[in-house]
Amino acid sequence: MKTAGLHHITAVTKDPQTNIDFYQQVLGQRLVKTTVNFDDPGAYHLYYGDYTGVPGTAMTFFGWLNSVPGQVGSGETHAVAYSIPQHSVSYWNARLKQLGFSPARVESRFGHDVIPFDDPEGMRMELVAEENLPAVEAWLGSPVPEEHELHGFYGVSLWLDEIESTTRILSEILGYQQIGQEGNRYRFQVPGDAPGKVVDLVHKPNTGRGIFGASSIHHIAFRAFSDEHQQAIQQQVRRMGIHATQVIDRQYFRSVYFRTPGGVLFEIATDQPGFTVNESALDLGSKLVLPPWYEARRDEIEANLPPIQRSLPQEVNA
Ligand code: ZN
Repeated sequence: MKTAGLHHITAVTKDPQTNIDFYQQVLGQRLVKTTVNFDDPGAYHLYYGDYTGVPGTAMTFFGWLNSVPGQVGSGETHAVAYSIPQHSVSYWNARLKQLGFSPARVESRFGHDVIPFDDPEGMRMELVAEENLPAVEAWLGSPVPEEHELHGFYGVSLWLDEIESTTRILSEILGYQQIGQEGNRYRFQVPGDAPGKVVDLVHKPNTGRGIFGASSIHHIAFRAFSDEHQQAIQQQVRRMGIHATQVIDRQYFRSVYFRTPGGVLFEIATDQPGFTVNESALDLGSKLVLPPWYEARRDEIEANLPPIQRSLPQEVNA
C-alpha cells in the first residue's frame, strides 16, 4: 500500500504573472503545463517542476484572481519545502535577499538546515538542505546554476488540532513511518529516494482554523504507482469511514480525493501518464493546453483568461 511520497501540491494564486515570474526566475522551476482548472475553466491551472515535472517536483496553482488572501491556521497544509544541496544554504539565503525576499534565520530541524521564507503572495515556503538529494532532471533554462538547483519537494508541514487521525492515515494507509519528534512537530517519512518523502504533522491545538484563500494550499497529492494501487488506497480510506471520491480523469494523472478528519484535502494521483501525454518534453508549458472536452470552447476560454508572459524561454534541453 506504500506510496513513494508526494505527487504534487496545489495552491492558489490571485496573480498568475507574479506566480510565473517567481517560480521561473527566482526558484528556477520550469513551467511544465499551462492549462485551466478542469472544474472552473475560467481560471488558469499552472504547473511547475523539474524538466518534465516528474512526481515529487510538481507544484501547481489555480489562478483565482478574485480570491481574498487566505489566513493561516490549523486544518491545512501550512508550508511547502523544497530540497536544496547542503552546500547551497548560503547561496539561497543570499539569492532570496538579493531578489527582495526576507528569509528568516536558518533553523535546524532534525539535523537539517532550513531556510523559511514567504513567496510573493505570502505562502510559507522552506528550503531544506540535504546531503543525499533525490535525483531530478534540471531545467537548463533555469537562472539558478545547476549545482544549486532545487531537487524537488522535501515535504510538507500540516497544522492540525489533533494529530492522531492523520497519523493513522499516513501510517496505516500510505506507508509512512514516524521517524522523529521535535517539540510539537512529528516527522513522518516513506522509505526510498524519490523527492517529497516527508510529512510533518505540527500539533496546533489552540490555533484557529485556517481560512482558505489566495496563498493557501488547496490540497496535497500522494503517488499511486498504478490504477490498482490507487483503487486499493481508495478502498482502505473508505474502510476507515472516510468519504473518498470516484476516480477523476485529470488528463496528466487520475485522481481520488478525500478530506482527512484533520481538515486537510488529500489526493491520490497516478504517476501515469504525466505531462508529456499531449506535448513534447521540449514544448511543455509553452502554450495553453485544454482538455479535449473544452477544445470547442477555446476562443471563449482564452478570451476570459488574463494574458501571461512566460518569463524565460521554454526551448532548452534540446
Ligand atoms: Zn491535485
